[in-house]
Amino acid sequence: MARIQYYSTNLKSEKVSFREALIRGQAPDRGLYMPDQIPVLTPDQIESFAGKSYPEIAEIILKLYVNDDISQDDLSRLVRDAYNFEIPLENVYDRIHVMRLDRGPTASFKDFAARMMGRLMQYFLKLENRRMLILTATSGDTGSAIANAFYGLDNIEVVILFPEKEVTDRQRKQMTTLNQNITVLAIDGKFDDCQALVKRAFADEDLSFLPLSSANSINIGRLIPQSIYYFWAWSQLANNIDDKIIFSVPSGNFGNLMGGIIARHMGLPVERFVVSTNENDEVPVYFAKGSYQPLIPSRNCISSAMNVGHPSNMARIVALYGGIMDEKGNISKQPDIDRLKKDLWPVSITDSQTRETIKNAYEKYRLLLEPHGAVAWAGLHRFFEAHPELYTPFQLCVTLETAHPAKFPQEIEHILGIQPDLPESMSHLDEKIEHMIPMSNRYEDFKNYLLKRK
Ligand SMILES: *Cc1c(COP(=O)(O)O)cnc(C)c1O
Repeated sequence: MARIQYYSTNLKSEKVSFREALIRGQAPDRGLYMPDQIPVLTPDQIESFAGKSYPEIAEIILKLYVNDDISQDDLSRLVRDAYNFEIPLENVYDRIHVMRLDRGPTASFKDFAARMMGRLMQYFLKLENRRMLILTATSGDTGSAIANAFYGLDNIEVVILFPEKEVTDRQRKQMTTLNQNITVLAIDGKFDDCQALVKRAFADEDLSFLPLSSANSINIGRLIPQSIYYFWAWSQLANNIDDKIIFSVPSGNFGNLMGGIIARHMGLPVERFVVSTNENDEVPVYFAKGSYQPLIPSRNCISSAMNVGHPSNMARIVALYGGIMDEKGNISKQPDIDRLKKDLWPVSITDSQTRETIKNAYEKYRLLLEPHGAVAWAGLHRFFEAHPELYTPFQLCVTLETAHPAKFPQEIEHILGIQPDLPESMSHLDEKIEHMIPMSNRYEDFKNYLLKRK
């Protein structure tokens, strides 16, 4: 197979190596980097994952994408260091499972991507003796995962923007109690405002003297690691290559889903992805109507990390299915909609359905879900209501739980009347001092702040 290179979804920038795509984050033409080919594994290779550990699977998959930019030994060391926690698969009934991606240091699935990307970046920066300033917008969980993944590294500084009123106390404390090389800006606005500020700074010539990079879900170094746990779930539960799986993915910016789609294109036997969104239903509407319209502003839901009115990874999904979408959501070439519909089934779940799901899952199965995972659980069941012929007790299904229920104590207490146990990683937050800088959502204010950082 030829060496994989990374092209921009806007098709106006040159192809680059993995290392270059990782360091740049966004392509110069404002597109997102994508591998120019997806490596396909043989059924034997995929079946052999059943006997392997998570870091072993991660090493095999990542090696295909980094080519010789990293040696096998170095990569082996990095994945073992990044993935040192459990990934439980909880059987609920028949062959339906919940995969808990919440056992990392910030109790969010974003640890999977952030920890790997942090280690990859530090590896390359050290080789070149370079510095980097990471700008990242978060609707809650990205920020703390990025902050924790980069905290204490000498050659990397991180500036995180979050919508002041849209994150929980605990999510905020996970970012603001670190300090050192981590600066947190509390923006008077929405997540989309934060994302727009970051995007504009990247495109601003006046700031080109800064060694800016992004750590958002748009970075290719975050995307590829998010395909690994799909292989993991299947390898732990499936009988053989004919045992096709249905995943339900709680989706906001669609990076998690994009990881799954990549796994499927690599040969993983996936029957369907249920794309579970909250009331931000621009993608379900696109599938139903054929025309795509970003939601401005995005809608506030209790699954707050999914309050996204235009998922940036849509451009990648469209690209992988033969179309072209720019960063604003304009489609200049439609993707193959029939093939998209064969692979993906999008559905929108309201807040009241989310709360009802948390209640029912707990009462019926003693299954403890938080709002994001509950959207996915509800999405799977909506899928089977729409396709009753596809349900048998032998159908393998996994819904993804992306945060720890203890991150949403008020909501859980209100619905179930219980307090979820705190994971060790979150148990001392209240004793620590918070550091953050309040800021408006005007670009001039953000720019002035960055200019003063020289
Ligand atoms: C970020 C996040 C999501 C959404 O993931 P995307 O990759 O943006 O679709 C879902 N749940 C939680 C808890 C998150 O933090």
